[in-house]
Amino acid sequence: MSRLDSFIRRLSAQRDILNEIRDQVAALPGDILELGLGNGRTFDHLRELFPDRRVIAFDRMARSFQASTPDPSNMVVGEIRDTILDFMGGNAALVHADIGTGHDDLDAITLTWLPDSVAGALAPGGFAVSGLPLEHPKLVALPGLDSVPSGRYFHYRRI
Ligand code: SAM
Repeated sequence: MSRLDSFIRRLSAQRDILNEIRDQVAALPGDILELGLGNGRTFDHLRELFPDRRVIAFDRMARSFQASTPDPSNMVVGEIRDTILDFMGGNAALVHADIGTGHDDLDAITLTWLPDSVAGALAPGGFAVSGLPLEHPKLVALPGLDSVPSGRYFHYRRI
């Protein structure tokens, strides 16, 4: 598969999963955390899906498309491994993490802390959506969508 095809599949998977769980997330109180603001595409989609909800974005720096840049009060700058500590025991209804690199060695380092961070930030019953698989006793994998190839993108519910 070409990198273009892989990129398209990743973005389609993000959109399809987020759209699929929208009503269930909307039924929960709590913030929405976007780990990896990047260009701001998924941040913009989250704002559209959850217009009345606080969406807080995290990244090493804010360099998103201008119209997809959060207010400073909703932008957390720094290494997520450190900055998310302020959100532990949190109330998040949804955490979306798009911080995979495609490099197994780098992603393996991320996976030493990301599952604990996501589980710790979510309220019980909250949802996690991630480009990297999150193995954690409090995160129960949800059935894949027909439109999402196995192993392409993952979603979970916190118990
Ligand atoms: N979903 C985004 C979008 O739609 O535009 C794209 C996210 S991009 C693939 C990943 C982003 O995560 C990059 O901007 C990168 O700087 C950030 N990132 C990755 N790992 C990080 C970490 N450990 N701490 C802070 N930011 C991180």
